[in-house]
This record gives sequence, C-alpha cells and structure tokens, in this order.
Amino acid sequence: MKDLNIVPFVSVDQMMKIVLEIGVETLLKEMAGYIEADFKRWPSFDKSARVAAHSPEGVIELMPTSDGVSYGFKYVNGHPDNTRSGRQTVTAFGVLADVASGYPVLLSEMTLLTALRTAATSAMVAKHLAPKGARRMAIIGNGAQSEFQALAFKAICGIDRVQLYDIDPEATAKCAANLEGFGLQTQQCQSAQEAVEGADIITTVTADKQYATILTDNMVGAGVHINAVGGDCPGKTELHRDILLRSDIFVEFPEQTRIEGEIQQLAPDHPVTEIWQVIAGEAKGRSDPRQITLFDSVGFATEDFSALRYIKDQLRPGNHTRLDMLADPDTPKDLFGMLLRAAP
Ligand code: NAD
Repeated sequence: MKDLNIVPFVSVDQMMKIVLEIGVETLLKEMAGYIEADFKRWPSFDKSARVAAHSPEGVIELMPTSDGVSYGFKYVNGHPDNTRSGRQTVTAFGVLADVASGYPVLLSEMTLLTALRTAATSAMVAKHLAPKGARRMAIIGNGAQSEFQALAFKAICGIDRVQLYDIDPEATAKCAANLEGFGLQTQQCQSAQEAVEGADIITTVTADKQYATILTDNMVGAGVHINAVGGDCPGKTELHRDILLRSDIFVEFPEQTRIEGEIQQLAPDHPVTEIWQVIAGEAKGRSDPRQITLFDSVGFATEDFSALRYIKDQLRPGNHTRLDMLADPDTPKDLFGMLLRAAP
C-alpha cells in the first residue's frame, strides 16, 4: 500500500490514549489555543449553517468548513432520549482533507473530541466575557459534557469550585465522583436555584427536545456570565426569554444561531455580537462588571476543524490506525486493473 493512499484513523480507544497521555487539562488548553487562532482568522473560512435532518427523536447534522487549504466536516447526532437505551445523546466522527488534492488526511472519532472542543470553546469564550476573578461555576445538566466543561473552566479560566445540579441525582453524583482528584471543589445541589447561588459563571448543558426553562430571570444576578450550551436545535432551548432581554449576547455564526440557539426566541434582528470579533479585538467583550454576558453556544464547524487540526498535529507512529480507505491502482487511470490485480 502506497503512503499516498493511507488515511490516518483515530478510533475512540486511540483518542482516549492520546487524551490521557497529553493530560485532559493540558489538551483542553492547547485545543482552546487552536480554536481561538481559527476564530481570529474568521474571514478566511468558508461558512454555512450546518445541514440538519430533523426527526421526532432528534437530529443528524453535517458540519462542513474550509480555510482554502484544508477542508473539514463532522457528522454528529443529537438524540436526548438515547440515554434510556444505553446510547449517547451525542456521537460524532469527522474528516479533515487536503483542498489541493481532495484527499482525506485524517478520519477521527469525534464523540470525545466534540466534548473536548465544546468545553474548550466555552472556556476560551468565557476568558473574554466572564467577570474578572471568577472562581465559582454552576453546571446545570451533569451528563456526558459536564466534566469536560468543569475541567476546561478550571484550566482556562481558573474556576476552582463547581456547583452541580441535574434532575437525575445519579448524574450529579457521577459528575462529582469523576471530578475527584482534579483539584476542583464540588457541591451536589438539590435544585438549579441552589446551584446558581454565588456562581460567577452559569453553564447550562441539559438535553431535552423542548423549550425548557432551566433558568428563570430571577435566578440570574448582575455581573454573571452564562455559558448556554444545551439549547442547540430548533424548538430546544434552556433559558427564559427575559434573561435574553437583559443580557449582552455573543454568538458563533449568527445565521446558524438564530435558527438553533437561545435567540430563536427573539426577533430575527435582535442585536448580537459575533464572538470572533471580540477575539480579534474588533468588538467589546465584557465592558461593565454588572453586565450579564451570554454565550449562546450551538457549536460551529470551525471549532471541529480546529479540533481535527489539533489531533492531526498529535499523530505519532502507533497512536492511530493506517486505514486502507483510498484506491491505489498501479497507474491512476487503471482502476479496473486494480480490481483485476486482486483476483485470485
Ligand atoms: P446527556 O444526555 O449526556 O446529559 C444531559 C443531562 O441533562 C442529563 O443528565 C439530564 O438528566 C439533564 N437534564 C435534562 N433536563 C434537565 C433539567 N430540566 N434540569 C437539569 N438537568 C436536566 O447530554 P450531553 O451529551 O451532556 O449534552 C448536553 C446538551 O449539550 C445536549 O442538549 C447537546 O445537544 C448539547 N451540546 C451542545 C454542544 C454545543 O456545541 N453547543 C456540543 C455538544 C452537546
């Protein structure tokens, strides 16, 4: 097999080894650097709202983007009831390809990678928006994404205490147990109200296919930063509309967020700031300690592109599989000859 025709593949098992070898917090910091660097060069990306196929149970999405040199896409689902049958709410895989030849250069699992990149993005954005000296974060929704969020905020923003709440107390206990030994103080709360008390940052990361109200207006005090991660689909939100009306709202790609984010509850011309402008120094982030800032996160294709770019840079002999995914005829025009070559 010629090297030209081999595609490196990172399986779930290999991804776990890569993450553990680098260390979760180091990786989150390094990946956040890649994501931030790509937001800084936002105009160089081909951007479109993701292509979504909705069903009563969930959604399947394709998320493509390109910077003209590399092309990437992710396949991802969102099925909140999956956990009842032992499946994940979110699973994903993705590809990075060379624009010049069109050949894929990486195929990777992206379930773990999505949790890592979502958390890295949230914390990187909070670095620009959260109140100075923020130490305490509430996490409402203690499922698959929650520990990654906690550790990213510790590593990138200096959070040292997380106040956890989930309608499923076992999820909260799992999250607290998983975070033991990472140097974070955890508090298991009986209500969302208890979780947000004294929190400088509120992360909502629940899964429910409806207009849910995880936070009501009276639960959000002045100066708080809200990292709203779970509302990411038409008809699936987490915040009461009144909170949105009191907040300065920051988004990834408005064309996608207006369809999928918390702001689907607002008029289509409600003012929002694109987060890349804050990162590139073209717009203000937090400008007042009493301001409520809201990152209306839905997840954008460039974040997956950055995550794939990061993983590609971590490839070493032995930490991935060399995949026979592309045809390798003896001469490029002799595809049929390649078939005959395999005959007994
Ligand atoms: P999960 O199913 O593993 O966990 C969700 C948790 O939310 C569950 O433990 C559930 O009990 C809890 N929950 C549901 N309703 C609640 C409520 N009213 N109050 C408190 N807790 C409640 O899902 P996950 O993989 O952790 O994903 C969480 C959400 O984040 C999903 O909606 C997913 O689509 C979204 N997500 C967004 C991004 C992004 O980039 N913005 C990326 C990944 C996932």
